[in-house]
Amino acid sequence: MDEVVPSTVCPFCHIAVRPADYFCSNCGKNLHPAPLGTGVFDIAKLYLLSLVTLIVAIQYTVSFMNTINSQMGKQFQGIEGL
Ligand SMILES: [Zn+2]
Repeated sequence: MDEVVPSTVCPFCHIAVRPADYFCSNCGKNLHPAPLGTGVFDIAKLYLLSLVTLIVAIQYTVSFMNTINSQMGKQFQGIEGL
C-alpha cells in the first residue's frame, strides 16, 4: 500500500518532498492520489466556509435585532404616549 508511505519522502524516487505537496518535484508523480479531506486546502476551504457562515449568521442576527429594536421602540413610544 503506497498510501501509508510517509508523505515527506516520495514513494517513487525517495526524494524529500513537503507534506503539502500533491506532486513530487523530482519525478512529478502524484503523491496523494485521493486526498480525503485532511489536506491543507480542504482545511482552508472548511475554515473559509465556517467564516462565511459566521458572517452571514452575524448579519442575520444584527438585522433580526434591528427589527426587534424597532418594534420595541414603537411599543415604548406607545407607552410613553399614554
Ligand atoms: Zn518522486
